[in-house]
Amino acid sequence: MSRIKAAFWDPTGARYAIPTWPWRMSPPHLMTLRQLAAEGLRPGGQGVQAQVMWSSRRRVRVAFLYDVRLALPKRTATPRQLEALAKANAARRTCPACRADVGYVLPRHLGICLDCHYGPAEVAA
Ligand SMILES: [Zn+2]
Repeated sequence: MSRIKAAFWDPTGARYAIPTWPWRMSPPHLMTLRQLAAEGLRPGGQGVQAQVMWSSRRRVRVAFLYDVRLALPKRTATPRQLEALAKANAARRTCPACRADVGYVLPRHLGICLDCHYGPAEVAA
C-alpha cells in the first residue's frame, strides 16, 4: 500500500472520527449518494456512515458513504401524485379573468395573464 493510501486507511475511525478508506478500498456495502441513486436507492434516515479519501491535484478529496443495508427505495411519484401536480401547475397557468390556460405561469404580482393586464397589442409590441 502506498504511503498516501496508508494515510487514509482508518476503518475504525480512530484518526478521522468516522471509518475511512482510501479510494477504491471501501467495503462494497458502503456507497456514495450517486451510487445509491444508480441502484434506485436513497439513504433513508441514516447519516454518513463512512468516507473515502484520496488525493487529487495536491488536495485531499472526500466522498461520504452510506450503508446500502440501511438504504430505502427511492420515492417515485404515484400516478395520482403526478395528476395532482399537473393540476396544480395548470392552475398556475390559468388566468382567473379570461379563464384560459395561457401556457406560462401567471406573474404573481399581476394575478392575471399579460393579455388581460396589458392588452394583447402591447404585449406583442
Ligand atoms: Zn387573462
